[in-house]
Amino acid sequence: MPAPLLHIESSADLPREADAVVIGGGVVGVFTAYYLARRGVRVALLEKGRVAAEQSSRNWGWCRQQNRDARELTMATKSLQLWENVARETGKDTNFRRCGLLYLSQDESQLATWEAWRDFARTAGVTTFMLGADEANERGKATGRQWKGGVFSPTDGTADPSRAVPVVARGIMAAGGSVHQFCAARGIELSAGRVCGVVTEKGTIATKTVVMAGGAWASSFCNQLGFKFPQATVRSTILAVSPGAPELPAALAGPDVAITRRANGGYTLAIAGRARLDPTPQQLRFARDFLPMFARRWRSLSLGGLEGWRQGHETLRKWSLDDVTPMERNRILDPRPDMAQVRLTYERACKFLPEMRNLSIANSWAGYIDSTPDGIPVIGEIEGLPGFILAAGFSGHGFGIGPGAGHLIADIITGMPPIVDPAHFRPERLQTAAWGKVAEF
Ligand SMILES: Cc1cc2nc3c(=O)[nH]c(=O)nc-3n(C[C@H](O)[C@H](O)[C@H](O)COP(=O)(O)OP(=O)(O)OC[C@H]3O[C@@H](n4cnc5c(N)ncnc54)[C@H](O)[C@@H]3O)c2cc1C
Repeated sequence: MPAPLLHIESSADLPREADAVVIGGGVVGVFTAYYLARRGVRVALLEKGRVAAEQSSRNWGWCRQQNRDARELTMATKSLQLWENVARETGKDTNFRRCGLLYLSQDESQLATWEAWRDFARTAGVTTFMLGADEANERGKATGRQWKGGVFSPTDGTADPSRAVPVVARGIMAAGGSVHQFCAARGIELSAGRVCGVVTEKGTIATKTVVMAGGAWASSFCNQLGFKFPQATVRSTILAVSPGAPELPAALAGPDVAITRRANGGYTLAIAGRARLDPTPQQLRFARDFLPMFARRWRSLSLGGLEGWRQGHETLRKWSLDDVTPMERNRILDPRPDMAQVRLTYERACKFLPEMRNLSIANSWAGYIDSTPDGIPVIGEIEGLPGFILAAGFSGHGFGIGPGAGHLIADIITGMPPIVDPAHFRPERLQTAAWGKVAEF
């Protein structure tokens, strides 16, 4: 079932030539093309289905610094500022608001972890407040329960996943770039070992620079080019309830369930980290790379079925550039939600916040979250493939940092000083399994 989404128009004609071509109309590809277009770069964005129809409209909308891994924290902080700027720059509202994120807990060890993070975050100039029992009970009074404590991050916020990315995509066109929906990139053309064009289902665009921001499809695309990108997806289910209960916190995570107010006054409900693992050929290929990640997360994962195989995003098959590809057969990755989890999430939410009983389930959907083995995205040019930049593997937290990631890629392409140090995101780290620790979520 698709998530609510603002549909936008496409540009008229596919250009024959561009300074840069961005593949993938999710938050990462769209912000990349947006910053390139604003710098006067002739950029074309290709999206096989609709802009933001995959992960970038299916998420909770949290834009957070809270609990970020150190490697991503600066990008998260800068992204919050960029989220704010984009409304001013485009004159359109993404519904980004610094509403603050509230976490409540009964668990001493979890509170100690948050406290340690708070101390670390302070060194990076990020302010977050630990809540004692009284304050947690006050802020969490809608739960009607007693809490040992919590944390509140006042400068974090949420944006509206149903419209934020489409609004920015319109900003690409307003700045002189072009956006082509229902136009899959089938592959890359090389000349003397470097990128010289992108082959699409509607013709070829000559270009020296390509950004692959294809989310869950990135690894199978890289496989066509002989580049090994260890990537795995898990199927995460989420539901929306009808508008009401306006006094509930805008973004609240409890031990069993999290709620987020949507722009229409309803809420999305989800269980953090809970997902289904649908086996695919690609998962088997990279199983060893993901062992440390799965060892850490196995409690919240359960075995799914053949859904991932059926969707085709993790195929190992090589395709031909002059024939229909898996991306054209599946315009929008729209996996089946786990209905048992929908019921469980709603029950938990009603227990957590009694007022939730007055709100009925309006919709539910699922999304494949694409991850790297260390839970940190890959952003950078691939060694040995000049002109090919990979930006994928945002590991369940890419919506909030999409603006910073797009800005960084535009910096790399235009030779500007990078908005954040790109070293942590180097694609090569995953080739040697020398990536360091798996990110905490
Ligand atoms: C249920 C859920 C909850 C989440 N909650 C949050 C949250 O609260 N905060 C947060 O920060 N993150 C969250 N995330 C993660 C976040 O949504 C993703 O990390 C982020 O959207 C990834 O963006 P992307 O642009 O890399 O990929 P996507 O949004 O998946 O976009 C990739 C696009 O590329 C297109 N594409 C692929 N191959 C081709 C091709 N060959 N040619 C043309 N187009 C192609 C696809 O059609 C797709 O539209 C959540 C994710 C899910 C599923």
